[in-house]
Amino acid sequence: MRFSGKVAIITGGASGIGAATARRLHGEGASVVAFDLDEERGAELVRAAGGERMAFRRVDVADRAQMAEAIQEVARRHGRLDVLFNNAGIGSHSTTVDLPEEDWRRVFAVNVDSVFFGCKAAIPIMTAQGSGAIVNTASISGMAGDFNFDAYNAAKGAVINYTRALGIGLARAGIRVNAVCPGPVDTPIIARVNEMPGLREHWDERVPLGRFAQPEEIAAVVAFLASDDASFMVGAIVPVDGGLTAHTGQPH
Ligand code: NAD
Repeated sequence: MRFSGKVAIITGGASGIGAATARRLHGEGASVVAFDLDEERGAELVRAAGGERMAFRRVDVADRAQMAEAIQEVARRHGRLDVLFNNAGIGSHSTTVDLPEEDWRRVFAVNVDSVFFGCKAAIPIMTAQGSGAIVNTASISGMAGDFNFDAYNAAKGAVINYTRALGIGLARAGIRVNAVCPGPVDTPIIARVNEMPGLREHWDERVPLGRFAQPEEIAAVVAFLASDDASFMVGAIVPVDGGLTAHTGQPH
């Protein structure tokens, strides 16, 4: 019950890694508010949790005004904000030459601007209470390049270095900022991978653990980073990837 009496906001909380983290923090005692566009899945999350201490709000994380208003409302209603998990994200499969400018901007709006908007609203609240934990979802795709995921690689790389800058800047205010870098995780975002011939088998072969992660395996690390167990972790970029980034690529 590491989050007993604590209040957490989770963006992209209706599905995949966000929903698994919502369930995990809720299970450890937190009051959770999931922000997402997917109202159906959001309602299902609340229903499955029995309603108590689990709430959903439709928020477009790429909209600064919506994010600011929603975050302030949660803090007002609960009297505090302990955890912000900036997790919502979208993929993008294209080379630079083929990628329309509006798609590049949308990838940055949802994956990067959202983190800025979330932090901009949450930091004054956390600073006033003298404590808080922010966790950002980056990706191993922000640590190295993929073929044909140019915008996604750039956006997740931005999340990583933004996490470092925020982490050092906010440490003495009592706010810890860290990031997780998942490898391949079985969630709807990766359904597209399953449609690409041979790609699923490729990842199963490349990941030293020999499989995709389940969203709960990422949620467990997010819960750790958001908890007081990680009290000396600041600006850390934590791969949760079954050993993928530990491997030089040499065949076995
Ligand atoms: P997912 O598709 O299951 O969840 C993403 C959620 O974000 C969805 O519920 C979606 O509705 C929501 N979302 C998208 N745009 C939004 C917006 N504008 N406003 C509010 N909500 C919005 O996918 P997931 O795998 O759980 O992804 C979560 C995060 O993990 C993303 O940032 C993704 O880039 C990252 N990630 C995923 C993997 C993977 O293999 N699944 C690997 C590395 C990183």
